[in-house]
Amino acid sequence: MSAFEIGTTITHPCLSCFYEKQTIMKVTPKEFSEKTAYVLWTQCASCGRNDTHLRQSE
Ligand SMILES: [Zn+2]
Repeated sequence: MSAFEIGTTITHPCLSCFYEKQTIMKVTPKEFSEKTAYVLWTQCASCGRNDTHLRQSE
């Protein structure tokens, strides 16, 4: 089960304006041999800059 849902907010500083809230726009699973990670496609809630984050699931 993914802990990351589209439309929710993560706390991560924007690289452009340093605003700390990023909204998840898309989640893409990324399979490794022993675990699954997720690529989070986020958008800054302040300036709209798009970013991606790789997160592991337990
Ligand atoms: Zn920003």
